[in-house]
Amino acid sequence: MNVLVINCGSSSLKYQLMDMTDERVIAKGLAERIGIEGSVLTHKPEGKEKVVIEKPMENHKIALEILMDVLVDEDNGVLKSMDEIAAVGHRVVHAGEKFASSVLINDEVMEALKECIEIAPLHNPPNIMGIEACREILPDVPMVGVFDTAFHQTMPKEAYIYPLPYEYYEKYKIRKYGFHGTSHKYVAQRAANMLHKPVESLKIITCHLGNGASITAVKNGKSIETSMGFTPLEGLAMGTRCGSIDPAISTFIMEKENIPCQAVNDILNKKSGVLGISGVSSDFRDIEEAASKGNERAQLALDIFNYRVRLTIGAYVAAMGGVDAIVFTAGLGENSASNRKEICNNLQYLGLYIDDAKNNIRGKEAIISTDNSTVKAMVIPTDEELMIARDTVEIVGL
Ligand code: ADP
Repeated sequence: MNVLVINCGSSSLKYQLMDMTDERVIAKGLAERIGIEGSVLTHKPEGKEKVVIEKPMENHKIALEILMDVLVDEDNGVLKSMDEIAAVGHRVVHAGEKFASSVLINDEVMEALKECIEIAPLHNPPNIMGIEACREILPDVPMVGVFDTAFHQTMPKEAYIYPLPYEYYEKYKIRKYGFHGTSHKYVAQRAANMLHKPVESLKIITCHLGNGASITAVKNGKSIETSMGFTPLEGLAMGTRCGSIDPAISTFIMEKENIPCQAVNDILNKKSGVLGISGVSSDFRDIEEAASKGNERAQLALDIFNYRVRLTIGAYVAAMGGVDAIVFTAGLGENSASNRKEICNNLQYLGLYIDDAKNNIRGKEAIISTDNSTVKAMVIPTDEELMIARDTVEIVGL
């Protein structure tokens, strides 16, 4: 029984086809530059060579048609016909307060997602486009929406209401939503499995450290606090995003530089974070390399990033009244031993001690704290696609 997982960005479409009888990935790939010149689909069928298809893709529907063709292609395909796709799972960034879990997509759900465009203008339109294109091409295949915000709907009100005039929550739904929920949920569950304890009995801090980065306090299996907010700009310093800063800085920059609000929004989202501090790159590999060669601002960017992760961990220990495990995931969290060490080095007061030999790993599940550490540090590669596929199977009832 095959499930196709789709994740649409404004000019991209990521996909993964999984055989859910054994949760095996049978093909995956990425269509890029949709709607612009030079569209290309890179397709990797299981056990076969990668295929690169360069064809104009004016929109997501055309990209999906090309993807369907390659999936059933005699040479590079993995399916005999499209009928072998039992269901489709779609990643959707923002479901507002409408959905606290994944749902079967119907016209009503589509309406609800469209209503969320106002609060997620960058993220939801491409997700919606992808679903609509898929529903046109596969009209009889059930589809499920899996939302980044859903896992965080368990946060208590004191965590998600901002200290602003309350009417803005009522009028505009301004509140903390949180993102990366599928990833936080997945690694929290895996951590519990690895510790041989029910997730309902644990206090876990999950650190999703990638280009976008967020931390969640998962108490008894539920998100009770997370670092991203109304938008994915709040919280940690990130690749290009500033994270939490004094909000008065926005208007101050607008006045000083004489720029409109969209321009300042761009600066905070695209020119800040470790890129803005270092002036080197938004990619942590480049920054680590520059820092190792003595670039002081690159080192400062790393120090600020790590410091903010540590501060947030401390805050979440307070929020949960303790912690059993701290989990690292996503590009940086899974791969950078030095970064994990720096973050954990100052957490001995919690009873957390890193074992350097165990920490010397990349992209593999492992407990990286010493055996006598009372708080466990763990590396768990995230797998949002698998979570989406599992939810799809469950909701469609396959
Ligand atoms: P996103 O999905 O938000 O784009 P990822 O989870 O793919 O981000 O993480 C991407 C980031 O992970 C890159 O910007 C890079 O800085 C970092 N990264 C990946 N591999 C390594 C590594 N070996 N060492 C340090 N950083 C790494």
